[in-house]
Amino acid sequence: MIELYYQKTDLRGVICIHDSSCGPATGGTRLWPYKNDQEMHADVLSLARAMTKKCAIHGLSHGGGKAAFNRSPKDGMTEEELRWYANELENLGGHFCTGEDIGFTVDYVNYMSQFTNHVTGKSKELGGGGDPSLRTAHGLLLGMCACLVFHVPESTTTRLLGRYTYMIQGAGKVGLPVIKSLVQTGAKVFFCDTNETQAQRVQEMFGAAILVPATEVFNHHIDFFVPCGKGGTVNKETIPKITATGCTYIVPSANNVLQNPDADAKLLKKAGILFVPDYVVNGGGMINIASEMLPGGYSDLWAKQKTDNIFDLVLTIFNEAEQTGRTTVAIADAMARSYLAKKKRERKKFSLGYA
Ligand code: NAD
Repeated sequence: MIELYYQKTDLRGVICIHDSSCGPATGGTRLWPYKNDQEMHADVLSLARAMTKKCAIHGLSHGGGKAAFNRSPKDGMTEEELRWYANELENLGGHFCTGEDIGFTVDYVNYMSQFTNHVTGKSKELGGGGDPSLRTAHGLLLGMCACLVFHVPESTTTRLLGRYTYMIQGAGKVGLPVIKSLVQTGAKVFFCDTNETQAQRVQEMFGAAILVPATEVFNHHIDFFVPCGKGGTVNKETIPKITATGCTYIVPSANNVLQNPDADAKLLKKAGILFVPDYVVNGGGMINIASEMLPGGYSDLWAKQKTDNIFDLVLTIFNEAEQTGRTTVAIADAMARSYLAKKKRERKKFSLGYA
């Protein structure tokens, strides 16, 4: 954990480098109004841990890291603060590379890129891969298709997504393009956002989507629950409510969407809800970011092809979970751990000189 403090504006933050076995730690920077430093540290540690698993399961040459500042996304950061943060990243000499997350935008990344190379998610005009959220949204749609194919093998086309009902919790950088794509399929789409201005903006953009108050997120019959806000919204209190909506599938963008992953995954399995582990299905954004750091620079094709693998990966996890009777979370975690262990063995061999 590396503490960050910008005295001039009393801005507190922290960077967590969780694991660098597969490469330099990479993960977004989050702005959130935490109650205290302890809460911020716990959030960043669990998010960085998830990034390690995400990079491993998608076979990326990056490690897990994350950063956060105790600041409301509504307030944002000033240019002066961003310059200072860029300098802090420079001081870490490339051991941590960061980009967008809740409250941290492409504009911030573009601005910081004038002062440091250790940012990702720059606009395409500046040689980057642009906002990774669109790729994340694409991965989520593939995850939804995999759910349908698993249950109804003949459903081989994304058009079938239009036959189902969805609740999108959080209509931000990821939620918005998901709503857009689902509305285009003719699906019935409910959405909510705790930020009323954002909720109204999205409602004006997509009249066919149905805005509901964030407090009424579990009051409607749905097939898919798609959490795209902050993590932890699927837990022992909400699972009975989610079950009562008739929900069959949970396809989350929100990192660490399960408050207690092992216990909550078992509750979902018992309730007959198919859960797609978040770091598997929301990996498109990280893949897009990894593409920016390829030796030849950003490749849209590489990022697209690797994101397309999410479909098969999700199906593999579902099949293995069904065959073994374990949860999808247990299967995905085991796959990520095995990849990490392999990478660690390879590194050890290499450093001993008999690779
Ligand atoms: P964002 O800040 O652009 O949007 C999140 C939206 O959700 C905001 O409008 C916020 O007001 C709303 N929100 C938060 N909690 C809510 C709740 N409980 N109920 C209803 N609305 C709520 O963030 P984003 O980039 O869209 O990311 C969304 C989630 O997906 C985050 O958990 C993020 O860590 C995760 N994620 C994002 C990416 C990406 O590419 N942006 C990649 C992987 C994972």
